[in-house]
Amino acid sequence: MNWKLAARAAKMNPSVLREILKVTERPGIISLAGGLPSPKTFPIQAFADACAEVLHNDGQAALQYAASEGYAPLRQAVADMLPWNVDPAQVLITTGSQQGLDLVAKVLIDPGSKVLVETPTYLGALQAFGPMEPNPVSVASDDEGVIVEDLVAKAKDGRFVYLLPNFQNPTGRTMTEARRAAVSAAAAAAGLPIVEDNPYGELWFDEAPPLPLTARNPEGCIYLGSFSKVLAPGLRLGFLVAPKAIFPKLLQAKQAVDLHTPIFTQRMVSAVMKDNFLERHVPTIRALYKRQRDAMMAALTREMAGLDVKFNAPKGGMFLWARLPEGIDTVALLPKAVERNVAFVPGAPFYADQGDPRTLRLSFVTASVEEIDTAIAALALTLREELAL
Ligand code: PMP
Repeated sequence: MNWKLAARAAKMNPSVLREILKVTERPGIISLAGGLPSPKTFPIQAFADACAEVLHNDGQAALQYAASEGYAPLRQAVADMLPWNVDPAQVLITTGSQQGLDLVAKVLIDPGSKVLVETPTYLGALQAFGPMEPNPVSVASDDEGVIVEDLVAKAKDGRFVYLLPNFQNPTGRTMTEARRAAVSAAAAAAGLPIVEDNPYGELWFDEAPPLPLTARNPEGCIYLGSFSKVLAPGLRLGFLVAPKAIFPKLLQAKQAVDLHTPIFTQRMVSAVMKDNFLERHVPTIRALYKRQRDAMMAALTREMAGLDVKFNAPKGGMFLWARLPEGIDTVALLPKAVERNVAFVPGAPFYADQGDPRTLRLSFVTASVEEIDTAIAALALTLREELAL
């Protein structure tokens, strides 16, 4: 058969990371690479009870086709959960926030459209936008996120800027209150819409992060949220909040993709969330991840002593970002680390343009504290060998 592929299919590449990470799936490897929430945090019994309840009370409706917007009580619960005044009519339930990125891309990107992104940014967003053939433009960024002057300089004719203010994937960095205020004002003045992606915002360690950008200017922002990190990623359940001007188009795009997000899952999660379940459950995730972040930072401080290795102190989320000494290329280092049974994610693929070869992302949530200690020691050994120390 002579399959003639659409031009856009050429834009769909296997995730560079997935290819790199295949080698890391060998048994015995401690992986600090994947973005997998700790399975210890999945509230399995609560799901079992909610499943039984939904099937018993609403079995027929739970197994029938349903509205594309989502299950009304869940939309209401999402609106109630968010820290600004959200009309549930503006909430669209999505099949993971990854689908939110796909819908945004379909509705806002033409071939060649300028889309502004952070340096570096979430690789999955670059993948979701890719088939719509945007021109991704990196905005210079520091420890607090995008630099306002560069954002303003590049804003002209931008379709939107894609921002991750809380515990960013991949860097773990957080946008300060002052930066949020400045970014929000600058984007509004430039007429540049913001797409705000916030799957990690609830996973703060010591204090809640500042208000989302969307809360400051709901008419100028699309907000993406997720249940993946506070309940379980296998649910494939997320949501977006969009202003009236754009909501119907996102809904039409959603309809075409999958008619609606599984209604059984929506009803089940709605049942799980009754009686403020998240208010009791999420603090247990925060406590676990904070312990593991502390363990990773302590291990890095101990094991990398004397080496020119820089790393940040994430205030929440799942990831820590590090930069290795001059001359190291983390893509080349990875197979050597794997030989020593430790895996990480090289940083370069997360850049829309030229990546920094010295960077890497480490997840501190999937491996146990003991495994983190072993893995960081192995990584330090690999690095010392590479530097011929
Ligand atoms: N955005 C970011 C920044 C992410 O890190 C992820 C998950 N890796 C997603 C979106 C997608 O999450 P989900 O589809 O599970 O809600």
